[in-house]
Amino acid sequence: MAGRAWLRGRLQPIEVGVGEGGRIVAVKKSVTGERRRDLGDAVLMPSATDLHVHFRDPGGPDEVEDFASGTRQAALGGVGLVADMPNTRPLMDRLSRLESKVARTRGRLAVDAALLASAQRAGRIPILAAGSAGFKLYLSPSTNVEATPDETELGPILESVARSGLSLTVHAEDPALFSELDPATTSAGWDAHRPARAEAAAITRLVAAVPAGLRLDVAHVTTVDALRAVVQAGHASEATAHHLLLAASSSTDARRKVNPPLRPEVERAKLWEAFRAGEIPFLASDHAPHSAAAKDQPYALAPSGMPGVETTVPLLLARVRQSELAFATLQAAACDRPARWLGQPEGRLAVGHDANFLVVDFRKRRRLHARDLHAPCGWTAFEGWEAIFPREHYLRGERIVEGGEYVGRPIGRLVRPEYVDRALVPSSPGSERR
Ligand SMILES: [Zn+2]
Repeated sequence: MAGRAWLRGRLQPIEVGVGEGGRIVAVKKSVTGERRRDLGDAVLMPSATDLHVHFRDPGGPDEVEDFASGTRQAALGGVGLVADMPNTRPLMDRLSRLESKVARTRGRLAVDAALLASAQRAGRIPILAAGSAGFKLYLSPSTNVEATPDETELGPILESVARSGLSLTVHAEDPALFSELDPATTSAGWDAHRPARAEAAAITRLVAAVPAGLRLDVAHVTTVDALRAVVQAGHASEATAHHLLLAASSSTDARRKVNPPLRPEVERAKLWEAFRAGEIPFLASDHAPHSAAAKDQPYALAPSGMPGVETTVPLLLARVRQSELAFATLQAAACDRPARWLGQPEGRLAVGHDANFLVVDFRKRRRLHARDLHAPCGWTAFEGWEAIFPREHYLRGERIVEGGEYVGRPIGRLVRPEYVDRALVPSSPGSERR
C-alpha cells in the first residue's frame, strides 16, 4: 500500500507492507512485495478506537441497534475497535449475563469490541473482572441504571476496580444538583436542568476518592473546567463530537437531548479549543441511538442520547480538511491513545501490529444525510454537516469497507487488555509526535 501517512511528526509518502495473518510487516519509503497498490495522495490512517458506544445488545424489542448493525456503522465510520457499555437490558452486573452477551457477539462483529461490566456494586467487581475488558460506573441514574453509589459505597467500588487492574469509565454528574424547575423544553433548558456544576461536583467527589493505581476515564466531559479538574489530577477523559461541535440552543428538537447536556456556545468553543490543543486524551462517540418515535415525544419525555459511531471520525476529518484541526491531534485522540487505554497497541501504523487502517481521501467531502447513513434509528443530529468518510477500511489486512460501502465479513473479535500503558495518563499534548 503506497500512500501518505503521519509519521515522526509529519505527513510523508509511505509504503505499508501487509503480511500473512494480517499484520504489518513493513512501514518504509519503499516496500517490495507481490501486489502493490498505489493510493496516490490518499492518507493511510490507523483505524480509530471508540471508547464509548451503546449497542443495546441484549435489549428489548424496541431497541434500534445490535452488535451487527452497530459494528457495521463503526466500520464505515473508520472505527476498528469499540468499547461497549454495560447498561443493556439486562444490566451487565453478573458474570452469567456477561457470558451470554459474549455469546451474542459470535459471528456478528464487523469490527473488534471490548465489553465493559457494571461497577455499580462493589461486591460483584472481582468476579466480573474475569469476563470483562473494563468497568463503567454511573454516578447519576441513566438508561437501565437506577441505583447510584452513596457516600459509603463509592470508596469500596473504586478500590475494587483498582485491584482488578482494569480501567474504570465514569459518568460523572451529581443528581442532587439537578434543578427542580419546570421540565425542559429545549436543549438550553436541559442544560439548566442538569447544569455544569452538577458535573463539576461529581468530578470533585470522584477525584478525591480515587485510590492509587486506579486507571480512571471520565466520560464525555462538557466543559474545560471539568476537563482540567480530571487531567490535572492525573486521569483520562473523553470528549464527544456532539459536545465539541453542538451547543445548547432554543431548539425544541429532542434529537439533541443528551446526558450530560449540550452546553452554551461559549463553553462549547472553549472545549473545542482544548481539543485542538491536544488537551483531551480521547475522542469518543457515546453512540446511544433511540428510535425517531421516542425522540419525537415532548422534550421532557424523550430519552437522552444520539447515534455517533459512524459520524464522529468523518466529522472531525472534515475539520482537518478545513484546517481547523491538526491531523496528528485527531489521530492521537481517535486512534493511538484510546487503543492503548484498552491495552491494544494497534492505534499506530507500526511493524508487528495488526494491519487495521483506513484510506482517507481528503478531496472526497460530502454532506451528512441520515438517508445515506446506516443507523437503524434513521436520523442524525448532524444533518447537512460536512464529513469525510474513509474510502477503505482494513481489519487485519482484510478490506471491510471499499468505496465507502461495507464489504466485510463478521471477522471482529472480542478483546481484553493485553498490556496497559500507564504512561498514557496524564496525556501530554506532544505525545502524538512519537
Ligand atoms: Zn454513554
